[in-house]
Amino acid sequence: MSRERVGLAAVVAAGLSLAFSGLVRGDDRPKGPDEDGTKPALTRIAGEGLLNSHAYQYLTELSDDVGSRVTGSPAEHKAEDWGAAKMKAIGLENVHLEKYTIWKGWTRGMAEAQLLSPTQHKLHVDAMGWTGSTAAGGVEGDVVTVNMFDIDEEIKNASRLKGKIALVTMQGKPKKSFTMLFAAFGDFLKAAHDAGALAVIGGQGGGKSTGMNLTHTGILGFDVDFAIPVVSMTAEDQGQLERLIARGVTPRVRMNIQNTMTSGPVETANVVGEIRGREHPEQILVVGGHLDSWDLAEGTTDNGSGTATTLGAAEAILRSGQKPRRTIRFVLFTGEEQGLDGSFAYMKQHAAEMQNHLGDLILDEGQGPVTDFMLGGRDDLVAAFQPFAESLANLRTIKVNDKVESGTDTLPFSIAGLPGINMNQETADYRYTHHSAADALEAQKPDVLTQNATLMALTAFWIADRPERLATPWPAERTAKMLRDQGEYEELKAFNIWPFGDLGLEKK
Ligand SMILES: [Zn+2]
Repeated sequence: MSRERVGLAAVVAAGLSLAFSGLVRGDDRPKGPDEDGTKPALTRIAGEGLLNSHAYQYLTELSDDVGSRVTGSPAEHKAEDWGAAKMKAIGLENVHLEKYTIWKGWTRGMAEAQLLSPTQHKLHVDAMGWTGSTAAGGVEGDVVTVNMFDIDEEIKNASRLKGKIALVTMQGKPKKSFTMLFAAFGDFLKAAHDAGALAVIGGQGGGKSTGMNLTHTGILGFDVDFAIPVVSMTAEDQGQLERLIARGVTPRVRMNIQNTMTSGPVETANVVGEIRGREHPEQILVVGGHLDSWDLAEGTTDNGSGTATTLGAAEAILRSGQKPRRTIRFVLFTGEEQGLDGSFAYMKQHAAEMQNHLGDLILDEGQGPVTDFMLGGRDDLVAAFQPFAESLANLRTIKVNDKVESGTDTLPFSIAGLPGINMNQETADYRYTHHSAADALEAQKPDVLTQNATLMALTAFWIADRPERLATPWPAERTAKMLRDQGEYEELKAFNIWPFGDLGLEKK
């Protein structure tokens, strides 16, 4: 082909393809990194993230040198200082702590239990967070079952639990939804305490632990504490008790549970650092995970992984030398395990600039690879996100949906009508490590962590740098309707964090 003909063919082809794209796709078609100008920066960030990451080193330090970090404890305060020092060392700007308080503090003491009859052996138990103690020196009592599925009836009949150890089980069919049962569980714990029950075996609210002789601690609501000792028992020990009772044998158990509740308010702090935007520094995307953990192990997967991912993401962007259009604010939240206290505190402290927020991006589903971007209720953003997710195909296939994640620091942003974006993960091993003695560094594969940190860096940068602003807050009415449509109303209402009254109800 001659040079002229090549030239002509190229012009014709270009004209055709322009006309074609204009006709078929339209101009408001969402653009991904290949078309919106972000690709060259993202390519550099990916290189830094994958080849020069220190995310696993950060996770090792946090796990082994700081260790478990229950909100408000000395160890958690140490973690705040560690997080701020890391942010500064990485090169984030405006690094500081944002202090707030939680209602009460709690420290774990001993948790011992023995089966006394019909056979004798040690029972594996651990106290649930923010629950009480047995009498000093321990207590001894018969174990009786309580049916979680009929919890309202159990509350009425709580007097039968005087001097007993209550074993919470699930029998028959539930009388109401699991959310409502769990919400009523708190009332049951109060009734059992008032009736003189000695202790409750019910960490899983009637379910069993995962197995492998692990207990799983945790809080039993949002910002709640209970005077009665409540323990998680291993599935293997609980199974034996249940089988004995089912054939008419009453197990007798000794228990010594000692915890310390400290009167509040107790001080804690979110750790904050920024990459300031080059064009719209006042517009802010929050990116993070939670720094606090439970205390049966090192808190590696919940949520040391999210903390290290966040730091690794910040580092990848800074080392790439690329500046986003808008500000990326990295936040290591505390108080997540007590009821998303850190992210709710953040919303209060930053209420005046909430209109300038784009949403938040959170990783807190354990140690596995990222599988989905859950856009926190914002169905209007799914199409815009899709081409970005497709641009990651060589790294990983990641799906996009509009679901709300109410179990982590995404929820306060979804309630504010912003995309609380959850980087959902494959959770195969997480059911073992979640809040258990197995939540240690062994559970996290370095290559998966590095990839997740890189994906977080790419996502954060793309959102902050794309020419068009991704999101502005929805009005309350629309947000309330979305939360109702997604089935969040019942839970939020039951736990007293539904802020919308009757908003969002369908008008007749
Ligand atoms: Zn978590």
